[in-house]
Amino acid sequence: MSQDLIRKYYIDNGINEKVYDFCNQIEESLKDRFDRIDKMAELNQIKVIKAMQGAKLAEQHLYGTTGYGYNDSGREAVEEIYAKVFKTEDALVRQQITCGTHALSIALSGNLRPGDEILSPVGRVYDTLEGVIGIRESKGSLAEYGITFNKVDLLPNGDFDYEGIKNAINERTRLIEIQRSKGYETRPTLSVEQIGELISFIKGIKPDVICMVDNCYGEFVEAIEPSEVGADMVIGSLIKNPGGGLAPIGGYICGTKECVENCAYRLTTPGLGKEVGASLGVTRNIAQGLFLAPAVTAASLKGAIFASNIYEKLGFKTIPDSRQERYDIIQAVEFGKPELVCAFCEGIQAAAPVDSFVTPIPWDMPGYDSQVIMAAGAFVSGASIELSADAPMKEPYAVYFQGGLTYPHAKFGIMMSLQKIVEKGLIVW
Ligand SMILES: *Cc1c(COP(=O)(O)O)cnc(C)c1O
Repeated sequence: MSQDLIRKYYIDNGINEKVYDFCNQIEESLKDRFDRIDKMAELNQIKVIKAMQGAKLAEQHLYGTTGYGYNDSGREAVEEIYAKVFKTEDALVRQQITCGTHALSIALSGNLRPGDEILSPVGRVYDTLEGVIGIRESKGSLAEYGITFNKVDLLPNGDFDYEGIKNAINERTRLIEIQRSKGYETRPTLSVEQIGELISFIKGIKPDVICMVDNCYGEFVEAIEPSEVGADMVIGSLIKNPGGGLAPIGGYICGTKECVENCAYRLTTPGLGKEVGASLGVTRNIAQGLFLAPAVTAASLKGAIFASNIYEKLGFKTIPDSRQERYDIIQAVEFGKPELVCAFCEGIQAAAPVDSFVTPIPWDMPGYDSQVIMAAGAFVSGASIELSADAPMKEPYAVYFQGGLTYPHAKFGIMMSLQKIVEKGLIVW
């Protein structure tokens, strides 16, 4: 199809010529970069297919069980596939895990006992985990069970504070919590290689400590996962990267046999563990979602890089910047002004397949100290592997956005965000 035909198509569908030409020129400059991302998707696609073949995934596995779910061969096949993909002894992959926070909570409470201490060597933990651990007072937190928490911040230059970490490890330190993605912090996201170095250092000091990685948003971005560089458990949400947009709910914990077993006893009950948990009819979506995940992650990454290059060129600070290597799918753009944040989110919403007709507005959300604006029009409610954006309405007025099940959708959403900004006269060209 000719470039002119595509151009006309965008222009007929709400993108003005100047926005299209500007974005198109930037996309042209990203060909080599996109090519490298496609190669990564290729590698990870084969990895997933090989795992499915290795577990002898069969049509009969795709139907569900009901009731107790004893001998659910589909559920067992999916768990074997996850263990193969993440190169771990075992895996717990369940739709009974309600979200990423729940998966992390199961991993912590399943593997810790009163008197144990958790150490985060990478600074603050994800916001919702503060409630789980009891850093923020919360009913039922680990603190109520006599489990304590300590953290060591990264050095100002982003390096690990090895001296501080060494000093923080004591006889009670039982579990190390390493968050791969920066989440909403300003620190950099960690590469798998960096995580490996950190784990080696820590195990050199205390070999029997459990190293757990919050892998949210990092799956399939690189060729290897943290479980291949010494992590005892890697954990994530199925409505992010590994669910490929098809899993309607769920979480995974891949790790050593012992760690996963402890998690299973916590998720269901002591004595029953992995043996129960009917899959109802969800196995097909979880399996097919994992199959699509490498390509979907690649689409999201391309969208993030496309946006970073566009907004950096327009003079805004983008994190990661236009050239930086990617270790997760999150992109932040610092707009500095609330009107720009709102216009950006309106554009993302206007390009959505679902709820495209609504206008996102900032509102008070429980647990936040400022209003928050969110744009999402997803098939799976709240799925942040689908194109979505959110921003706390406070300095520096940064939008965090992520996802895109297909690159053309991510591209359309980002072009639409710029279109809205231009329409409102918020930038001068
Ligand atoms: C998304 C996420 C979580 C878990 O969040 P849920 O909304 O509970 O799924 C935890 N850690 C990080 C880094 C995340 O990005």
